[in-house]
Amino acid sequence: MENQLNNPCGFTNRDQTITAYLRNELSEKDEVQFEQHYMGCEDCRLELRIRKQMFQVSDEIPIATESYEQQPNESNVSWYRGFGWAAAILLMGAIGIMQFFATPTAVDYTAQMEPNTFMEQLTQQKWRSISIDKVSPANGDTLTEALEFNWEFPGNQPVQFELFSNEPNMIFSKKIEKSSFLLNPTEQNLLPGRYYWKLIYSESPVYIGSFVYLP
Ligand SMILES: [Zn+2]
Repeated sequence: MENQLNNPCGFTNRDQTITAYLRNELSEKDEVQFEQHYMGCEDCRLELRIRKQMFQVSDEIPIATESYEQQPNESNVSWYRGFGWAAAILLMGAIGIMQFFATPTAVDYTAQMEPNTFMEQLTQQKWRSISIDKVSPANGDTLTEALEFNWEFPGNQPVQFELFSNEPNMIFSKKIEKSSFLLNPTEQNLLPGRYYWKLIYSESPVYIGSFVYLP
């Protein structure tokens, strides 16, 4: 049984699930299940946001990832590692959440940045006879904060906007009435990584492009 502090919302294995989710280690089924849960659970969204910030702090400073452990200069490595831990602990202290001491903090986003071969092929494709025009971001662009999507479509007809991770797992889907869309990365708990966005009209794709989110 998990106690109240660790599990305010009652999601089974909440603590482990959040850790595994941030490390991209959940099975597709568990990931979808958890995503569906936290969409409606403020506690889990807050927890995700706090932990994500921790991960980012420790990620900016190269700490105990495999590649660093293999480097010959041991004194450098332990200095970095100590510094990373110090930063992480400071942050944890600041937000007053002590339960994270047991959680290793290094997250390597390399895997999330990898292009997906299948999706990359789709980004090169011309879709149907309807032409979509003046698309931004351009395929492969890097976005640092505002995720603003624009396009021109004959008659400005509504399209379905879908966002995929590089797995590819669908993270977001919405019907858009205009030819632009502003996605809030914090609201969607977007981690740094490569993403694919897809516009669908009348159940067929009319555009697929990729971008890298690097806040
Ligand atoms: Zn929850």
